[in-house]
Amino acid sequence: MYCPFCGAQDTKVIDSRLVAEGYQVRRRRSCNECAERFTTFEVAELVMPHLIKSDGRREPFNDEKLLVGIHRALEKRPVSIEDIENAVNKLKSTIRATGEREISSKIVGELVMELLKSLDKIAYIRFASVYRSFEDVKEFGEEIAKLEK
Ligand SMILES: [Zn+2]
Repeated sequence: MYCPFCGAQDTKVIDSRLVAEGYQVRRRRSCNECAERFTTFEVAELVMPHLIKSDGRREPFNDEKLLVGIHRALEKRPVSIEDIENAVNKLKSTIRATGEREISSKIVGELVMELLKSLDKIAYIRFASVYRSFEDVKEFGEEIAKLEK
């Protein structure tokens, strides 16, 4: 690829390694012209199923929305960005592995809850309280009790 610094067409890969538990390739490149170095990431372009919303509308799967929800739940929690990325990659693989062309947003929501449960219990409760919109304090308490088992 072209050098982002000087636009030279000739850059070479000087290092290549698997990251994100093998879901990404990170390459260090060096420009033959200006000798600047830069990093590129290669990820598989996943064909994700469309989402079926609860009102029946269909919309394209949106990584951004998924990440925003997950990051919001994990705000100020002791979970590293890398752990989050790995978990999200796994989640996407799971969704893709269904082989479905459409998937209900409800199923995705349940998968996100499972993911958060494995990452951080507080984040899970935060997400679940919004997602399931607990009716009352009792229901909320029941969910917490389930976690403590
Ligand atoms: Zn250059």
